[in-house]
Amino acid sequence: MELTQELRTLAKFTSVAAPVISVYLDTQWRDQHQRERVSTFLRRHITQARSLRLDTDAARQSLEHDLERVAQWGQRLVAGNVDVHMPGMALFTCHAADLWVELPASRPFEDAFILAERPAVRQLARLDEDYVSALLVLIDSRAARVYEVVLGDIVGEVDFSHAFPGRHKQGGWAQMRYQRHVLEYMERHHREVAADVTSYLEAHPHALLILSGQTDIVTNFRATLSGPMQQRIIEALRLDMHANRRHLLEAAQEVLQQHERREEAAAVQRVIERAGQNGLAVLGLQATLAAVNTSRVHQLVMQDTALPGWRCLMCDHLLAHAVLQCPLCGGELSTTDLCEAMVSAVLRTDGAVELIEPDAHLARYEGIGALVRYA
Ligand SMILES: [Zn+2]
Repeated sequence: MELTQELRTLAKFTSVAAPVISVYLDTQWRDQHQRERVSTFLRRHITQARSLRLDTDAARQSLEHDLERVAQWGQRLVAGNVDVHMPGMALFTCHAADLWVELPASRPFEDAFILAERPAVRQLARLDEDYVSALLVLIDSRAARVYEVVLGDIVGEVDFSHAFPGRHKQGGWAQMRYQRHVLEYMERHHREVAADVTSYLEAHPHALLILSGQTDIVTNFRATLSGPMQQRIIEALRLDMHANRRHLLEAAQEVLQQHERREEAAAVQRVIERAGQNGLAVLGLQATLAAVNTSRVHQLVMQDTALPGWRCLMCDHLLAHAVLQCPLCGGELSTTDLCEAMVSAVLRTDGAVELIEPDAHLARYEGIGALVRYA
């Protein structure tokens, strides 16, 4: 998926020459007050950033350039039209490294303005994993509507409907022929839709499938899909074939959210079980930090909350408790949000991240654990 790719690229981006600015905004323009809030937020942070002392002229010039551009961008955003608007907006910029990435999102972000040597990707990672793309297929015996749901929005739609020969008043053999004809027709129609659905799912290996229709028709359609494609089905619904897009999108979103919560619960269970069997998993902040610091994390599972900590400015080593200097290289330490830093570190080493809602099972282990590549 495009966002996943963007997330990985941003996570691996480092600029030593000048700071990277990451901006996340809640841009749901419910009223004028909301626009003023965003304006004030940006102005305040831009003023603060202008007073930062930087080591080199190059870094200062790059930051100045970025701040000016962010200010103009913010003004345009706040003045923007509601109709063509998204409820969330993220921006990553570093002039010296030629970085400028704007990412509108279908849900609001928590306002954040962060200067660092890397993009702050935690909120983007959360968005990426929460919004799995899916195909919603409404199917009956002679028509189908197929919707592509990506990042909380319907981005594509295909209508399958075929002229079907009318029914004549006939009995006996003609009637039986007609029934058989109806079934053959439905089979052909279902195979045609299934071929289309399959080619989409093959091209989008992470996309899920939601079916909707009468039980027997859905059962028939399901059978025309191959085994691997059937495994991508997460739910069968009974939506009105003629329901409007907004209603369909809401129904699909709810199914996807429930799926995401189940995935989160399964991820937590996997880590706890494997750790309990002395398998390739760790639990608790210290053990997980140790795994992150040695690039061993296959999947980080953690509650999405800020965690104060320290980072070595020389070697990126992360610490939960303050010490005088980095235990590895003697470098200077700086305060950091460990949640943000760990997400970034794991993504940089091609691990996966599962940021979850507060979870009672994981809370017993400080809300954090990980599957690791080796012990
Ligand atoms: Zn160090």
